Amino acid sequence: MPDYKLVTREHQQQNTVIEVNDIKIGAKKIIVMAGPCTVESKEQLSTIAKYVKKSGAGVLRGSAFKPRTSPYSFQGLGSKALEYIKEVGKKYNLITETEVMEINQIDLCGKYVDILRVGARNMHNFDLLKALGKSSKPIILKRGISATINEWLCAAEYIMLNGNPKVILCERGIRTFETMTRNTVDLAAVALVKKITHLPVIVDPSHGTGIRDLVSPIAKAAVAVGADGLLIEVHNDPENALCDGDQSLLPKQFEILMQEIKDFSLAVGRQI
Ligand code: PEP
Ligand code: MN
Repeated sequence: MPDYKLVTREHQQQNTVIEVNDIKIGAKKIIVMAGPCTVESKEQLSTIAKYVKKSGAGVLRGSAFKPRTSPYSFQGLGSKALEYIKEVGKKYNLITETEVMEINQIDLCGKYVDILRVGARNMHNFDLLKALGKSSKPIILKRGISATINEWLCAAEYIMLNGNPKVILCERGIRTFETMTRNTVDLAAVALVKKITHLPVIVDPSHGTGIRDLVSPIAKAAVAVGADGLLIEVHNDPENALCDGDQSLLPKQFEILMQEIKDFSLAVGRQI
């Protein structure tokens, strides 16, 4: 018995294209998902959403529930943040996404948000994956911090096998012996997974590097190796961000990235 089959191109040759309103994930256009690491207030989310929309992002990112390494770190605004995400997404006509950490958050998040995200720390949470298989929402499945490609694809298989074909794989860097970057972005995995599976694959250069100045070059490299989209943290006041300020782009830097990435997309037969 193979470890996975539904995710493979043997099972389905053509690319899976996930449609959410007017956005197609996995088609010719590179989809950029951008926003704060964490929703800090309605004003903060709204300010950032306005900028990312203006620069061409299609999806607003933002976490309401946060899996923090330290229990003393900000844990997110919870369900209040979900209300802000819905309101701000509607205001700027942006698709929305957020992280779901537990089975009992699936229905709640699904009421407010278009796309659910499984964080790296939960990629091995098989009960959560099975429950997300019963959801009708698209799922961004982040690669686990030390997950092999095989384990990542098995996690995707759990969601598909339980009934949800709308899985978006997200490479967010893996833990290696390197310490100067937060994680090591595995772009070879992106190219390989694009070959093996028909599922859309996106890259998160923010968590992948942990360093603001590396986000733009790695985003371009991701497009060059065939990524279908990007997940990027943007903050209007990164110095005072409650989470991940060091890896968040300023709105102006995001605007420049969106301009510069056009040529990279065209060079590989894509659009942005
Ligand atoms: C995130 O994208 O908000 C996040 C927590 O990332 P990861 O799960 O990749 O660490
Ligand atoms: Mn973050």
